Amino acid sequence: MNSDCLFCKIIDGKIPADIVHEDDQVLAFKDISPQAPFHSLIIPKIHINTINNLDTSHQTLLGHILLTAKKIAVDNGLSEPGYRLIMNCNEDGGQTVFHIHIHILGGRPLIGFG
Ligand code: 5GP
Ligand code: ZN
Repeated sequence: MNSDCLFCKIIDGKIPADIVHEDDQVLAFKDISPQAPFHSLIIPKIHINTINNLDTSHQTLLGHILLTAKKIAVDNGLSEPGYRLIMNCNEDGGQTVFHIHIHILGGRPLIGFG
């Protein structure tokens, strides 16, 4: 837990969020500035700054995050039309919140990279 971290504050319930999934390892909630009709974020409940901080000790957690993304996609009718998962790393990657997260975007065609 990092007391200066926005997403840790959401995990702690200090900042409200529209939660779509929660379990012992992860929290998923709607993005405050959606870039598609469906746009959620999945975060681990432990604070990890960036993808650069990951190592083999996080393998099980990372698998769980990816499988949770698939479950959220299925639960929200995205699996057949399709959807996009994005992880940004550091400034050039477009990361603005330094607690790792996967974006799940869907509900419209997402073509190319922007
Ligand atoms: P990044 O740019 O780091 O990959 O993504 C951070 C995401 O967090 C952005 O899409 C941004 O809209 C979202 N975000 C920033 N602040 C908040 C917040 O207070 N609540 C929620 N639900 N999303 C946030
Ligand atoms: Zn955090």
